[in-house]
Amino acid sequence: MLDFNNTEIAFASKSDGELRNALMLFNVLKHPFIVKAGKLAGLTALKLHFPLGWIVKPTLYRQFVGGETLEDCRRHVDALQAKGVKSTLDYSAESRQTPRGIAATFAETLASIDFAAANAGIAYAVFKPSTLVTDEVLAKASEKREALSTEEEQAFREFRDRFMTLCRKACDKGVRILVDAEDYCFQDAIDEFTDEAMRTFNKERAIVFATLQMYRHDRMDYLRRIYDDSLAAGYYPGIKFVRGAYMEEERKRAAEMNYPDPICKDKAATDANFDEGVRFVIDRIDRMELFAGTHNEDSNSKLAALMDEKGIARNTERIYFAQLLGMSDNISFNLAHEGYNVTKYVPYAKVKDVLPYLIRRAEENTSIAGQTSRELRMLKAERQRRRH
Ligand SMILES: Cc1cc2nc3c(=O)[nH]c(=O)nc-3n(C[C@H](O)[C@H](O)[C@H](O)COP(=O)(O)OP(=O)(O)OC[C@H]3O[C@@H](n4cnc5c(N)ncnc54)[C@H](O)[C@@H]3O)c2cc1C
Repeated sequence: MLDFNNTEIAFASKSDGELRNALMLFNVLKHPFIVKAGKLAGLTALKLHFPLGWIVKPTLYRQFVGGETLEDCRRHVDALQAKGVKSTLDYSAESRQTPRGIAATFAETLASIDFAAANAGIAYAVFKPSTLVTDEVLAKASEKREALSTEEEQAFREFRDRFMTLCRKACDKGVRILVDAEDYCFQDAIDEFTDEAMRTFNKERAIVFATLQMYRHDRMDYLRRIYDDSLAAGYYPGIKFVRGAYMEEERKRAAEMNYPDPICKDKAATDANFDEGVRFVIDRIDRMELFAGTHNEDSNSKLAALMDEKGIARNTERIYFAQLLGMSDNISFNLAHEGYNVTKYVPYAKVKDVLPYLIRRAEENTSIAGQTSRELRMLKAERQRRRH
């Protein structure tokens, strides 16, 4: 029976020392003022090119990041696979906005597809579209508020080429690829390219996966549009569901720029939207594939129960549960133990490049967000269990 409180299974691959380090880290993260001060200090140090590795590497980085390179991640891939969990290696360099930085990110993402194709422990490749173009060009093209200059048009064309090249390579190599969802101001352009890529590359099976942030109240309409389009154009949609990581910024921007708030009115509405989306895909699982990225125990239990109720094989390749490295091991390993398919996002990049990702994880894990109390409770329970 599915039991997310089984800490023996959840932390089987963690040594006593690793358990102690995780406990120490989450004990610090539970203080919102420390996280706030840390964010400010981190962003300032980044601007001043002040080295941060000495403080970040033994703490946040060790908990949430697989390493600097694909090769560094191999030990995580092997360790996860030994417990029945697959990896999704995510090159998480988010702040490289120069042409050289963008070209390097593109090359690394291509390499991650090759790496995935050659390693049975990897379930998907993934990319964050905004790392392939400057934020300015992507927002301007996506929002269509004003015309692009000739140089911007060129930059946007290059972005499209990179986007499609990644999807084509994934298709050629038979690797499924997730297109991460991002800020609202970027998302129209990302959706447009993702739709086009699904039409082109998902003819025989789902290769390209659209990410739907279910904190947006328009996403069920988008999901229905994708499904109808797939019937008309003859392809198999891949759908990745998440709740969405940028709620506060989105609400603030909508208020500042005077457009309607794109986010559901409250958490209950987001939760209901998430469940409705998952059910929609499960009801059409013969034509669609599902990736459920969530640390919410209720969402994971509901999806598992729905699969069982419908008689869908737990190990069908069409459905994956997913969590982030260093978080919610109680969900990942207990699901895998019960025979469901699970993958962990394993981010990798140098400290300075992965800092925005780490700040998001730290913020998500403060006591306000509520995730830490659960992580701490689980870690403490496992320490107690090992002592007896
Ligand atoms: C494998 C994986 C991949 C991910 N990929 C992406 C991605 O591509 N793009 C992306 O944006 N995020 C991504 N995320 C992060 C994700 O969107 C969430 O921020 C995070 O997982 C927390 O949501 P939850 O479902 O795990 O848990 P919960 O704790 O149940 O939900 C928290 C979330 O609920 C929503 N919420 C909270 N309060 C309110 C409110 N008052 N009103 C409306 N909604 C509210 C917010 O989205 C908040 O993040 C990913 C997460 C995972 C695990």
